[in-house]
Amino acid sequence: MIYLDNSATTRVMDNAAQAAYTAMTENYANPASVYRFAVDADRAVEAARSNLARALGAQPGEIVYTSCATESNNLAVFGVANVHRGRRRRFITTQVEHPSVFETFRALDAMGQDVVFLGSNPDGTVRTDQLASALNENTVLVSIMHVNNEVGAINDLGQIAGIISRYAPNAVFHSDGVQAFAKLPFEPVPVDLYSISGHKFNAPKGVGALMIRQRVRIGKGLLGGSQERGIRSGTLNTPGILAMDAAIRYYFDNGSAIRAKLLQCKQRLMNLLLAQLNDVHVNGPDLSAAAPNILNLSFLGVQGEVLLHALEEYGICVSTGSACSQKKNQTSNRVLEAMGLSNERARSALRISLGMFNEVAEMDTVAAAIVENVNRLRKIGH
Ligand code: PLP
Repeated sequence: MIYLDNSATTRVMDNAAQAAYTAMTENYANPASVYRFAVDADRAVEAARSNLARALGAQPGEIVYTSCATESNNLAVFGVANVHRGRRRRFITTQVEHPSVFETFRALDAMGQDVVFLGSNPDGTVRTDQLASALNENTVLVSIMHVNNEVGAINDLGQIAGIISRYAPNAVFHSDGVQAFAKLPFEPVPVDLYSISGHKFNAPKGVGALMIRQRVRIGKGLLGGSQERGIRSGTLNTPGILAMDAAIRYYFDNGSAIRAKLLQCKQRLMNLLLAQLNDVHVNGPDLSAAAPNILNLSFLGVQGEVLLHALEEYGICVSTGSACSQKKNQTSNRVLEAMGLSNERARSALRISLGMFNEVAEMDTVAAAIVENVNRLRKIGH
């Protein structure tokens, strides 16, 4: 099998799986208990927290562990909204967010809040001109994703933070960093809230985090035993947290080599396809401006979904978009349409997302299978 759906999820790396196994079978104490066995578990979690904080340019006390990025995003948006409950405030996001952000803003809209969905540039980055005009003194939250999960467009968080502090200095800035974290070099994130998810970078499913700067006022997510500064109660998922830490440490040491390989794979695949097929369009930014792991292509005249299933027969796994929207059988693609792509181009889109286990040599096999099937499907009119 050649797995090219790494934006949906990834294979767990061995050292992360090993860390989870050890935490489940040996170091399994509840870190909130008080005997030495539990203190060891607590120490391990706190060391992991420090590593994650270092990766984000944050303080360890600013990290709240969650079960996934959907939870982190919900906590960020509703957490800020709860602080302002009872007042009509402005909340700003974009039309190209992942559903875990997009739907929370739609819910705020339905509750009567003043919600603005910013448009997208043709390459999938946010319209910063629209942001500047939407910000006002009533704005309490801006949520703009770091890397777009469908096309790999990278938003310049520093530039956006500058616009926010100029026009609405009291607004909280959240960014969904799921497709950026460990895919781009680790750098301090110039935001107030930042979401990540373990299973997108070779850690297991069921663990994520929300970075919450100390100065941010935020409502509680889960009520209970007051873990995680009381913001997110619940026994800590030590196997998940320690596995995610093992993956982060691996990316600290090997991230630039992994990124270089991803870029080589992407470049090779693109070159092979563009050389052998007509009417292929890259959706999203140019290679040099995009995340190294995501390639979104439209093969005009061929439905993305039909091509996806044809490639499945060759043991090649790709997607037509976000895994969450595919299952809903949506024929339209909100993100590609917001970028201004025609219906025809959106319907023929295929998302190829690379991961650390892919090899450059695999790209020749993938390109050959795509070329063969695109030619065949074009002939029979699919
Ligand atoms: N945000 C983005 C950009 C994503 O790509 C995803 C997953 O596809 C999520 C959020 C949701 O992450 P999780 O599966 O951890 O809830």
